[in-house]
Amino acid sequence: MHELGIATEIVNATVKAAAAHGAERVSAVAVEVGALQLVDVEALCAAFAAAAAGTLAAGARLDVREVPLQAVCRVCGTTYAPAIDDYQCPRCHAADPEFVAGNDIMLMSIDLETAEEQQGEPH
Ligand SMILES: [Zn+2]
Repeated sequence: MHELGIATEIVNATVKAAAAHGAERVSAVAVEVGALQLVDVEALCAAFAAAAAGTLAAGARLDVREVPLQAVCRVCGTTYAPAIDDYQCPRCHAADPEFVAGNDIMLMSIDLETAEEQQGEPH
């Protein structure tokens, strides 16, 4: 399952960041998922919950923002939004795009809870 591999990577990166900040737990994680990844958001959230179980990220909310695909034609330089199954440039009809957005998965932010914050002590 494609989503489980992605979710595992998100959890690994999240747990690493949480540990580096001495967090007690993770309350929310925000990711941007490119359209080219063909990710099923519901499946990704379910996979994230499963992968996070037993880690610092257990029970964290996963906010997924889908990023539309955007490409620049390597032949004529036109910027366009290709379809998932049709990369052809609308201007010169070459199918040689460089994807500039929507082709990867990025961890945008992680909300952490530390012991100090839970007790309301000043930093
Ligand atoms: Zn072109």
